[in-house]
Amino acid sequence: MTSNSRSHSGETGQSSHPADRFRPTPVTDSDTGSAADRYAVAKAIAETLSTTLGPNGLDKMLIDRSGTVIVTNTGATVLDGLEIDAPTGQVVRSAIDTQASRIGDGSTTMALLVGELLTTARDLIESGLHPASVIKGYLAAAQLANQYVTTASTPVSQSDTDRLTNVAVTAITGRWDDTAAVNLASIAVEALKRLEFDPAGLTLHAYPGGGVTDAEHIDGILIDTDTSSTDSESQEVHSQGEQSQTVTAPNIALVDGEITQAALSKPATVSVSDPDTLTEIRSHEQQSRDSRLESITAADVDVVVCQQAIDDELRTALDHHGVVSLARTRRDEFDAIAQATGADSVADVTELHAGRVGTADTVRHRTIGSTPVVEFTGLPEEHHASVVIRGGTDHVAEETRRIVGDCIQNLRQTVHGDGVVPGGGATWMAAACHVAEHAQSMSDRSQIACEAFADSLKIIPRTLAHNAGADPLTIMSALAARHDAGDTDAGVSATGAVKRMVKSNVVEPAAVISGCLSTAVETTTMVVRIDDVLDAEKLDSTVGVNNAHTDDHDGHSHASDGEHGGYPWALSH
Ligand code: ADP
Ligand code: MG
Repeated sequence: MTSNSRSHSGETGQSSHPADRFRPTPVTDSDTGSAADRYAVAKAIAETLSTTLGPNGLDKMLIDRSGTVIVTNTGATVLDGLEIDAPTGQVVRSAIDTQASRIGDGSTTMALLVGELLTTARDLIESGLHPASVIKGYLAAAQLANQYVTTASTPVSQSDTDRLTNVAVTAITGRWDDTAAVNLASIAVEALKRLEFDPAGLTLHAYPGGGVTDAEHIDGILIDTDTSSTDSESQEVHSQGEQSQTVTAPNIALVDGEITQAALSKPATVSVSDPDTLTEIRSHEQQSRDSRLESITAADVDVVVCQQAIDDELRTALDHHGVVSLARTRRDEFDAIAQATGADSVADVTELHAGRVGTADTVRHRTIGSTPVVEFTGLPEEHHASVVIRGGTDHVAEETRRIVGDCIQNLRQTVHGDGVVPGGGATWMAAACHVAEHAQSMSDRSQIACEAFADSLKIIPRTLAHNAGADPLTIMSALAARHDAGDTDAGVSATGAVKRMVKSNVVEPAAVISGCLSTAVETTTMVVRIDDVLDAEKLDSTVGVNNAHTDDHDGHSHASDGEHGGYPWALSH
């Protein structure tokens, strides 16, 4: 969930806001959150996101109430920017959030699937099928579909760079030309390889300026001196643009406290009447500075990373001795550098000695665009990797970062999950055929729901065809013919033609599909189980319990202005 405002106050009368279509229809006496309303919200969310699916997906521009603009193609990010108050809308949102947090990618797919499964369920119930049969059929179908995905997936080893690059390209295609996509995909694969495909040690940095081809992988920690409060003494770098300064095989000291003169505990004024006393104070200060400098140089330190401030004159002195100093380093970065370089951090420089310093292959100070950064590479103790993403503007850089984030999650799921399956809707189509075939052997009415579930899975290839500008009917019948003939990897290519996806290198993690299936069926059966949406305020007045719950004179009910914000609340049974 995001921090965007979902308050209900002061929003009436702003009916032109796009998010308004996700508000619940006002509840009337005769219609307390009808089933039609519940299903319509899920459908509206799916329709909004459907144009963003796949390599030809369009972007959404989100403008929040403070005027901040985000341009994105990622389903979860679009939903984060929308205010959805309708109860069913919130259930759909939580399904999409679950996919985004557990699996990473596939949030648009999830929205489409939930929308389609709920619309189908509504049609089945309206045509007379009991909700219990719908639920039974859906659960059986999801199990069959998941079984299919497991058997269709192929494991991918960490060393299979080509296959992993294909997975990464599939996650990012449609944005850039093939060369740029492959370049970005290879950077993501390389960065993760060093971390055994555990993204926990990977940091993504996005900077405006430069193009997508300027992205790079840094085998180590990158500290952004603009976003962290780190500043450094390397004046040349700040003044001379894209220059860099490199220290090779440095000894690195980590100082957790300040490196300054001892501060007085209270503000005080010292009056000096005699020049000799002043000279004495100055020489004492100099001695204390010299002793700190001496502690640093005696430990043969080349780089000092300090968590707090460093005395200005001492920094100048350090610079003269060729020691690079970084002050006010962010706590998380400080700890990461300490761990990765093997340094034992000290509270005061006087505690420094050779045994407590760490090391790295290089420490490089440079600027990326206009941002000064410091890179620690070749770290002996713990692997860290950083990926630097560039984009013409802030919006492009940030969206590129989101896409590369999805790509990294897909790589993790591929290696640590169940491997890959054909993309381009091929696996959804094949799973649909598998489910429909098995549904025939079911003897009760849930068979109808099971078959309808199979049909709903085709929403993914159908939307991919639509977004590619092809005629969905023609493509879907061609696709069905290919699957009937046994081509289980026939899918919809980026040009809107039916092609073999594995041969076209369009593969995606099986976990994205099985994650979608499991969460989507849980969500839809939960909504189907809901018999009524009850409005607490309306109930109070109908049942005549007003007096029991009100203590103010106008008979205003607590239930309506409490934590539920006055909106109908879903009760399941
Ligand atoms: P999601 O948020 O669900 O990940 P995307 O917009 O990333 O949505 O689209 C993912 C879908 O696009 C997947 O079904 C994937 O197989 C398909 N896809 C990606 N690249 C290609 C391609 N080159 N050709 C065909 N389909 C592709
Ligand atoms: Mg995606």
